[in-house]
Amino acid sequence: MKKHYKFSIWYFIIGIWIVLIVQNYLAGSFAVKTLPYSEFLQYLEQGKVAEVAITANEIQGRLKAESENGKEQYFKTVKVDPEISELLSAHHVKYSGTIESTFLRDIISWLLPVFIFLGVWFFLMKKMMPQQPGFMSLGKSKAKIYKQEATGITFDDVAGVDEAKVELEEIIEFLKNPDKFTDFGGQMPKGLLLVGPPGTGKTMLAKAVAGESNVPFFSISGSEFVEMFVGLGAARVRDMFEEAKKNAPCIIFIDELDALGKARGIGGYGGHDEREQTLNQLLVELDGFDSNIGVILMAATNRPEVLDPALLRPGRFDRQVLVDRPDKEGRKKILEVHLRKVKRIGDLDVDRLAAMTAGMVGADLANLVNEATLLAVRSRKERVEMAQFEEAVERVVAGLEKKNRLINKKERNIVAYHELGHAIVSMSLPDTDPVQKITIVPRGIAALGYTMQLPTEDRYLMSKTELLNKIATLLGGRAAEQTVFNEISTGAHNDLAKAADIARSMVIEYGMSEQMGQVYLKGESKGQFLMPGLSQRGEYSEATARKIDEEVKKIIDEQYQVALNILAGQRDTIEKAVQVLLEKEKISGEELKQIMQGTELPGREEEPAT
Ligand code: ADP
Ligand code: ZN
Repeated sequence: MKKHYKFSIWYFIIGIWIVLIVQNYLAGSFAVKTLPYSEFLQYLEQGKVAEVAITANEIQGRLKAESENGKEQYFKTVKVDPEISELLSAHHVKYSGTIESTFLRDIISWLLPVFIFLGVWFFLMKKMMPQQPGFMSLGKSKAKIYKQEATGITFDDVAGVDEAKVELEEIIEFLKNPDKFTDFGGQMPKGLLLVGPPGTGKTMLAKAVAGESNVPFFSISGSEFVEMFVGLGAARVRDMFEEAKKNAPCIIFIDELDALGKARGIGGYGGHDEREQTLNQLLVELDGFDSNIGVILMAATNRPEVLDPALLRPGRFDRQVLVDRPDKEGRKKILEVHLRKVKRIGDLDVDRLAAMTAGMVGADLANLVNEATLLAVRSRKERVEMAQFEEAVERVVAGLEKKNRLINKKERNIVAYHELGHAIVSMSLPDTDPVQKITIVPRGIAALGYTMQLPTEDRYLMSKTELLNKIATLLGGRAAEQTVFNEISTGAHNDLAKAADIARSMVIEYGMSEQMGQVYLKGESKGQFLMPGLSQRGEYSEATARKIDEEVKKIIDEQYQVALNILAGQRDTIEKAVQVLLEKEKISGEELKQIMQGTELPGREEEPAT
């Protein structure tokens, strides 16, 4: 954009320059000089007049070439003497009664430059605003919505996101047979939000839904809405929905929803109102349309936390689908999808490739395959072989390391033990939420890995034992690091904060500390202007505060010991489970249970050890 702008100034200068030259030239050759009558008579006497034309009150004519700097000079003068024809005859000047009109010349000498100028200007406008619908239709807002009748992308093209696909299957079913759903009186979700890091295939998934259900696909990027002139964004939203309703059933896809749907009040000074207007319009449209006409709105974001909460309310983007980084199995499938397109391919160990590419997303893997192919071409190989892929991995990784977190082998190891620590402690204690799965695929922004626990039921009451077990589980990660490496890392700081929170609440809110007794010490916040942390503090003395801290510490220490004891008795399990986790990058709660019970995993032997 900047470049264009710079360029355009030059176009202007050149344009003006051309105009000036043309003007000058035309003026020089066509200019008509107005002569005083006396001077005309003088020229006539001297025999310098070539020819004249006479009208009722004007004489126009041409002087002979030699008269002035070798050029023929046109002139006009007033007709004073009515008997001019005799005078002309006397000097043998050719004359006629009609005018050889200079009108055309005059017009041309002025209009030509104007046309040239306009031409340059049009050219310029076109150059300057490639994205604009044309400045003539300003305000009509022909929205730049990309429409694809058939995306040609199916679920087969998007690999390694099986969980997201399952969620989207229902939408496809609906788009194929809307009647089946509406007959039952069902209501389809209006808005579906795909959440996940960049390059994980969110756009592809949306296109695949359109492709699978054979409906048109409209897409627009959230950032395009806000780059517009004030008021145009809202108009675009309106247009987009109108267009979509006409084309129902169809899918509207808004990429980078966060650019447009940022919580009101966050960030940016300029264009603030514009974004707000656009967002409001989107909310209005979302509320106003009935999804049963077959328009499904899909959007993608990698920063769901900045979205305006209003967007996520029921009836809007109330369904969220997580499109996460692929695990090893997922990466293998994605690689296979992209390898299909490579024509000359050697013997590849895709399994090993998948293992080498921990942390990469679909876009990285697509890039990797391409890079390897290029390397093979460059080194004049017959086929793309493993060697090219190894080199490509190095290149891609080097590029990625700056961009995002690709954890290295040593870190992976630590993370694996840490996560297993949480899981094993949790599973060894009664009354804890069952462990769903453990993964070491880097997630989101902060966590290096995670242990997912699903609460069995919605809880309103928790016993003291349950709370203590929860603390022990939270500390299990650090305990595992301590047990195995005799060293602790920073990976646990989130765990510690959560554990301390629970312990503190037990002491000052729930009256669960023997030392403190049945007390409630959590003060109501006094002023609204206190910092969040400060407002927590109630009305109690320094001594009490110290006692509270001691109690919290005691609870934490005790539970840390509990975790350590459990893990010390489970060293075998830990070692076995870590092997599985490092290889598969995830392990289900069920699998871990089997390892803990000493049962070998079914099917483990089938996979060749690497
Ligand atoms: P996002 O919208 O999540 O940023 P895209 O859908 O634009 O990601 O993906 C970019 C490219 O990466 C795709 O064109 C495709 O080649 C590749 N890609 C990403 N995810 C996958 C996947 N799950 N399976 C196959 N290819 C993928
Ligand atoms: Zn942890």
